[in-house]
Amino acid sequence: MKIWDLHCHLSGLGGRTPDESMARLIALADRMGIERVIVFMGVPHAADPSPEDLRKQNDQVLQALSHWHHRAFGFVYVSPKHVEASLHEIDRCVRDGPMVGLKLWVAARCDSAEADALVRRAAELRAVIFQHTWIKTQGNLPGESTPTDLAALAKRHPDAAIICGHTGGQWEIGIRAVRETPNVTIDLAGSDPTAGLVEMAVRELGARRILYGSDAPGRSFASQLAKVYGADVTDEARRLILGENLQRLLTPILRAKGVKL
Ligand SMILES: [Zn+2]
Repeated sequence: MKIWDLHCHLSGLGGRTPDESMARLIALADRMGIERVIVFMGVPHAADPSPEDLRKQNDQVLQALSHWHHRAFGFVYVSPKHVEASLHEIDRCVRDGPMVGLKLWVAARCDSAEADALVRRAAELRAVIFQHTWIKTQGNLPGESTPTDLAALAKRHPDAAIICGHTGGQWEIGIRAVRETPNVTIDLAGSDPTAGLVEMAVRELGARRILYGSDAPGRSFASQLAKVYGADVTDEARRLILGENLQRLLTPILRAKGVKL
């Protein structure tokens, strides 16, 4: 079965360079039969990156990808707090570079005019947009988006391919929040491997709107794969979730870039 992992990082692998970290990540992926990984953000993670931080973090990912184009893709790290710098990074890393998506984290909430500008540019380039979302019991960070914020953003950009990172952590709420925005797919990564997540997502969204991701190395490949392997869903749904959906989502930009799989 083709497995593509939507959600991996370089931080936490212990390599002295991006190349070492990337080699370690691929070695772990090989053990689990994972064919392709998507990587975003550098070392250490910068929650509220300056324009300089964005450039440095993206440089690390570009370096990490440089020997692994046959196994990995990258998303460019951007921040709605720095629109001009982020647009520049999108041009540098996606339009003129090898990256195929955007990563937005917790610097500023995504339901904003600033995020609109980044999403518009991504959509022009057919890049997919990954936004971290969470619903924290103790309260979110000031700039941390919820799935509801993401749904509001996605409604304004029906042609953009938008991914709801972590499905909000509290996935029963997250799945419902994005149900009426068909251009949103959900990311299974980074929460505990609780039974019922994949089953509810298939029931409420359909298998085509669900993407396997791990958040490795912060989470193990095994525990996150288990969410999908252990789910009571059809083999067809499992194939879509583990790899086919992500490949389909990336096909427009890969075609535009002339990337052959
Ligand atoms: Zn992550």
